[in-house]
Amino acid sequence: MAAIAIATIISWKAISLFRENLCLLLGRAPSRDQLRDATAATLAVPGALGVHDLRAEYVAPDSVHLDMHVDVAPATSIEEADAITSAVETAVHAVIPGAYCVVEVDPAIGSGGHIPDRRSDLSML
Ligand SMILES: [Zn+2]
Repeated sequence: MAAIAIATIISWKAISLFRENLCLLLGRAPSRDQLRDATAATLAVPGALGVHDLRAEYVAPDSVHLDMHVDVAPATSIEEADAITSAVETAVHAVIPGAYCVVEVDPAIGSGGHIPDRRSDLSML
C-alpha cells in the first residue's frame, strides 16, 4: 500500500516537472502586458526614441531572454548610447525581473528623430 502511495507521489511530481519544462521547450513568452510595460519603460528612458524587434522568451522558470532594438539620435556618442542601453536594461528589469537583455542600438531616421511606425512594437502586441 505504501509503495502505491509513493509511486503516485513520484508520478505526480514527474508530470508537474514535465509540464513546467514543456512550456520552456515550447518557448513560452512573457505576457503581452509585460512586453507592453517593457516597451513603455524603455521609451521612458531619456534618449531612447523608439523600440522595435522586441522579442522575449523564458529560458528558465524565472529567467527571460529579451532582445530589442532601440533607436537613438544619429549623433549619439558610443558613451551616451552605452548609458542609454544600461538605463534601458535597468528599466526592463524593473518590469520583468530576471530579464537578460540584449539591446541593439540603431540610429533614428527622419527629422522627427524616428519613423512614426517604428516608434514601438506596441501596435503588434
Ligand atoms: Zn533595428
